[in-house]
Amino acid sequence: MTMFDYKSRLSRTREELERLEADVLLVSLGSDLPYLTGYDAMPLERLTMAVIPRDGVATIVVPELEVPRVEPRPGLFVIEPWSETDDPIAIVASHARSAGRALIGDQTWAVFLLQLQQALPDTSFGSARPLSEALRIIKDPEEIDLLRQAGEVADGVARRLASHQFAGKSEALVSQEVGVMLEAGGNESVEFAIVGSGPNGASPHHEAGDRVITAGDPIVVDFGGRYRGYNSDTTRMFHVGEPTARYREVHGVVQAAQQAAFDAVRPGVTAEFVDAAARNVIEDAGYGDLFIHRTGHGIGLDAHEDPYIVAGNTQHLEPGMAFSIEPGIYLPGEFGVRIEDIVVCTNDGAQRLNNSPRDVAIVE
Ligand code: ZN
Ligand code: ZN
Ligand code: ZN
Repeated sequence: MTMFDYKSRLSRTREELERLEADVLLVSLGSDLPYLTGYDAMPLERLTMAVIPRDGVATIVVPELEVPRVEPRPGLFVIEPWSETDDPIAIVASHARSAGRALIGDQTWAVFLLQLQQALPDTSFGSARPLSEALRIIKDPEEIDLLRQAGEVADGVARRLASHQFAGKSEALVSQEVGVMLEAGGNESVEFAIVGSGPNGASPHHEAGDRVITAGDPIVVDFGGRYRGYNSDTTRMFHVGEPTARYREVHGVVQAAQQAAFDAVRPGVTAEFVDAAARNVIEDAGYGDLFIHRTGHGIGLDAHEDPYIVAGNTQHLEPGMAFSIEPGIYLPGEFGVRIEDIVVCTNDGAQRLNNSPRDVAIVE
C-alpha cells in the first residue's frame, strides 16, 4: 500500500488557505478528498465533507454507515460520523462557524453549497480550485511512480493490440477487448476505450459503435484505466493491411508533431509553447485546420486535470507536472490519426510514461 505524505499535504493546504486569504477548506466528492485524506467518498446523496480550517483540527464529517470505509489518520483528521437523524449541514457549519471565507470543492453538490450558505450567512464562499490545483499539479515521487505503472499497463495493452485481430470485429467488440486487457493488466477500472475505425477515426471522441472493421481501415485506439487511483491515457494507430501513401504521410506528420512537443518540454516554458510546438509542425505540413483540439491535458487522480496544454495557457511548466501530448489530424469522411503519450516534466526535459511503438501497427 502506497503511503502518501498526508501530513505535508495538510500543511500545504493550510499555507494555501493563508495565501488565498481563506479560513476553511470544505471538500466533498471528487479527487481532492482522497488526495488530502486518502478517503474516496461514495458519490451518494448523504453528505461527506472534510472541513479543514487554516488553524485548528481537521474533521471528516461522514455518514455513520460509511465510517468503516475511512482509514483513520490519528493526528491528522478527526472522523465525525453522523447518523440518519442528524443534520450533517449543521455539523459542518458548527466546525466552520467562525470562517469569514470558505473555499469549497468544485465537485460538491450544489444543494449542499446552498444549504451551507444558508447555515453560514456571514461566510463568503469561493472555489477551492486554485488551492487544489496548486497542490495537485506537481506530482510527488509516489504519484509519478503510480502514473508510470499505470502507463506500463497501458503499454502492455498497446503491444498486444499490435498482433490483435481487428478485421471482422465491431468497434464495440474491440473496445470491450481493450477493457478486458486493461483489467487483466491490473487496472481497477477502465475509464474509456475509444475505437474509431475508417472515417469514424476523424471524430476525436468517437464512441466505439457497431461499425465492422474491414481491410484497408486505419483505426484510432485511445484508452485509459485506473491503476491504484492513478490514470493512464494513450493513443496508438492500427491499420488493417498496408496503409496508403496518404495515410503514411499524415501519420508521419502527427508523429513529428508529437516528437516536437515532447522536445519542447522543459521547466520554465509555458504550456502554450508546447502546444505551439506540435501545432507548428502540423500547420507547416498544411493540415493546421484539421488539428481541432488542444495538444494535451494534465493527468493524475483525474483523467483530465491541470495543466492544460493549450494556446492561451501561459502557465510555466515545472518538474513534477504530468500531462498528455496528443496531437491529431482529422480528415472528415476519410480517417483520423492521433498519437498520445503521457509525459512528466523533469529538470532535464520530458520523460515519457508511454513507450510502446508509435509507428502505425499493421494488423489483420
Ligand atoms: Zn480526449
Ligand atoms: Zn486519450
Ligand atoms: Zn488524453
